[in-house]
Amino acid sequence: MIPYGRQDITAEDIARVGEILNSDFLTQGPAVPAFEKAMTEQCGTRHAMAVNSATSALHLACRALGVGAGDVVWTSPITFVATANVARMCGAEVDFVDIDPDTANMSVPALAEKLSRTAKMGGRLPKVVMPVHFGGQSCDMAALATLAQEYEFAVIEDASHAVGGRYRDRPVGACAYSDITVFSFHPVKIITTGEGGMALTNRDDLAEKMTLLRSHGVTRDPAQMTGKSDGPWYYEQVDLGYNYRMTDVQAALGLSQLARLEDYVRRRHVLAARYDVAFRDLPLAPLRQDSDVYSAYHLYVVRLDLDQIGKSRRAVFERLKERGIGVNVHYIPVHTQPYYRALGFEQGDFPLAEAYYARAITLPLYPALTEEAQDKVIRSVKDAIS
Ligand SMILES: *Cc1c(COP(=O)(O)O)cnc(C)c1O
Repeated sequence: MIPYGRQDITAEDIARVGEILNSDFLTQGPAVPAFEKAMTEQCGTRHAMAVNSATSALHLACRALGVGAGDVVWTSPITFVATANVARMCGAEVDFVDIDPDTANMSVPALAEKLSRTAKMGGRLPKVVMPVHFGGQSCDMAALATLAQEYEFAVIEDASHAVGGRYRDRPVGACAYSDITVFSFHPVKIITTGEGGMALTNRDDLAEKMTLLRSHGVTRDPAQMTGKSDGPWYYEQVDLGYNYRMTDVQAALGLSQLARLEDYVRRRHVLAARYDVAFRDLPLAPLRQDSDVYSAYHLYVVRLDLDQIGKSRRAVFERLKERGIGVNVHYIPVHTQPYYRALGFEQGDFPLAEAYYARAITLPLYPALTEEAQDKVIRSVKDAIS
């Protein structure tokens, strides 16, 4: 089976991880701060907090921005459930903004329309909007930031797909148009730490809060304490936090992988361009790539022209699986999940996301995919739709 995504682990990665296993600190040693520093340099951001998953990073981001009961957070229905869930974990309500069907990113015109409609009706405006850089392609962040100023909401970029990507002249993660950006280091993503994630920000207050909440809300910094130190052992819990720490074992892997980030993304572009050429005259459409964006190409998605193909998406999907192609679907619209239906969302609420979902298939794309294997995928796609 050719999987839709796969990590790439080198002898160098294994050596770096081995060094940590032989060292004094498996966690809270020097590797985590080294990984964080390297990522701030990569992205040109002031602060980076490594944690045990992107879900944890998104949760910390919401907590740091004060999201709680009585607040509303808006995101895209075409994302992994975690993006919406973290707002629920803070006690907030979630709502969605429909997508641009050609990129599967949150539609900024639809966001503008929904904000204006909500404001006119005296409804609750979002405290935070979480755009998701679908497949590695950044949302239109400049337009989104203009709306954030006008309607006074904070912005968390769910860039789980987009480490190594660029928007205009800056790396994704620079936080030039947002308060916080989050990366995922799950093995199917661009670089991996096994499980892991990171939150980046230019704001000192948010960095301090996320650092505190990452480790139980406990501090040893006298400046953050409310009481007087009892002695050199003294620490204080000043907020309700979590154990969301990344281990040094993971950080060493991440740091080693980061050295190959640009090569990985370049390779993904080469493979994506080969798919684009091979599919040019077929009844399936890749996502549009915007000219001011350099995608990290986490996913290569095609939208099937089902009328012209004369088969269901399911039939095409199953045929590809039979031929050993590990296709996938990203994503089932979050508002149609039973948990969100129970909160009142219904089929039909976000029609463009639902229409996109009905005909999307994700094809294999990862740096170690060989051109021979990719040619097999291409032949299999042609067979499956004929
Ligand atoms: C993978 C992913 C997450 C969650 O990442 P974890 O590191 O597995 O917690 C969140 N959002 C999106 C869009 C993702 O793809």
